[in-house]
Amino acid sequence: MASTSTTHDDEPPEEPTEEESALETARRQLEHAADHLNIDQHIVERLKHPKKVHEVTVPIERENGDVEVYTGYRAQHDSVRGPFKGGLRYHPDVTREECVGLGMWMTWKCAVMDIPFGGAKGGIAVNPKELTDDEKEQLTRRFADELRAVIGPTQDIPAPDMGTDPQTMAWLMDAYSMQEGETIPGVVTGKPPIVGGSKGRDGAPGRSVAIITREAIDYYEKDIKETSVAIQGYGSVGSNAARLLDDWGANVVAVSDVNGGIYDPNGLDTHSIPSHHEQPEAVMGHEAPETVSNDELLELDVDVVIPAAIGNVLTAENADDVVADIVVEGANGPTTTAASKIFAERGVPVIPDILANAGGVTVSYFEWLQDINRRAWSLERVNDELETEMLAAWGDVREEFEARDVTWRDAAYIVALSRIAEAHEARGLWP
Ligand code: NAD
Repeated sequence: MASTSTTHDDEPPEEPTEEESALETARRQLEHAADHLNIDQHIVERLKHPKKVHEVTVPIERENGDVEVYTGYRAQHDSVRGPFKGGLRYHPDVTREECVGLGMWMTWKCAVMDIPFGGAKGGIAVNPKELTDDEKEQLTRRFADELRAVIGPTQDIPAPDMGTDPQTMAWLMDAYSMQEGETIPGVVTGKPPIVGGSKGRDGAPGRSVAIITREAIDYYEKDIKETSVAIQGYGSVGSNAARLLDDWGANVVAVSDVNGGIYDPNGLDTHSIPSHHEQPEAVMGHEAPETVSNDELLELDVDVVIPAAIGNVLTAENADDVVADIVVEGANGPTTTAASKIFAERGVPVIPDILANAGGVTVSYFEWLQDINRRAWSLERVNDELETEMLAAWGDVREEFEARDVTWRDAAYIVALSRIAEAHEARGLWP
């Protein structure tokens, strides 16, 4: 993930460095998009800051009787287009600044998808691996109570993120509902389907990566059946994207997990390789003619490379060595600003994360709609509507890409920012 180095709140550094924080990246991308648009500078200034950041103390009694006190955050960036939306992470490196930066990314992501939500992010600075399930439940219920006044289906809707999962969301929804006196499934998304979660939510980010990859392949006039693809990371995003692209005829020649990757120029049988969730770290155990390191995978002679594991893997160090014709960002922030610049100079299209992996938040929006209407959708409907939304967003971004002669990333931010700025303009500043 992006590092958490700090600079003064108002001044992102002039020159991009490889060590940019999420907040610096979010502000830089905002300014970059604003340069292409004729929007009120006051709106841009306002968007550099979160609307509110809540910091709470979350004490729990550990099983050994000790009381441990953790700090939790919820950064709410912008809600001009609808309630705040974004993940809650449990990770030792969670900071206020990281939540603000990642909350901004959510604002852009929801806007590029034209979903009626704003952006937020939150979490607790804790190592969840050091907690028992009971302790995690206590932590989550207490956190829910501390945030109760500022979350809710029409205010702010958390979702799972690093270190949290559907079970965490079920506890959060339960704690919130108990205090409100009624069952309110729409307070969180990413829940287990039995308590109002959506079918297809787990696979959605990978599905959207596959849909956008397919469209990019078509846009660059390649035949998917003659397209080779290398995918880094075989978790939720990587494995779902790999299997769909494989089903649609692409030649998935390399996949990897944290230990390294396997490579078969004739194509891998992606369905027989266990995903991270089916069997963790099993990729290397699968038979294949060659193994590659995670660095080598990114530099394979393929048509499309999809980094779908972690952030900051495409850097100034290796961007010149990437030979793929198209990069699709499956992970969040896999390309550093310096690497993006190199790809732009080399004319290598990089389809950005805020578009490619937005299937997760899009199906979260579908989940919220289902919860509010108390009516579950079939998996087929979820996947059909996701396809429709992805194609619409792809079309909007493509229009800006063609009209303005910018990178795909800039085009996506231009679409997002113009929607947010127009909404601010229409609503005006109160009082
Ligand atoms: P995951 O935990 O399901 O899987 C991660 C995969 O990456 C595993 O195969 C793991 O072995 C591998 N990996 C871990 N560290 C690695 C390293 N240093 N080098 C190479 N591989 C490594 O995670 P995920 O949900 O698939 O998420 C992957 C990325 O996509 C993250 O950046 C995440 O933020 C982003 N993302 C996820 C979702 C979602 O809802 N799952 C939505 C949008 C974006």
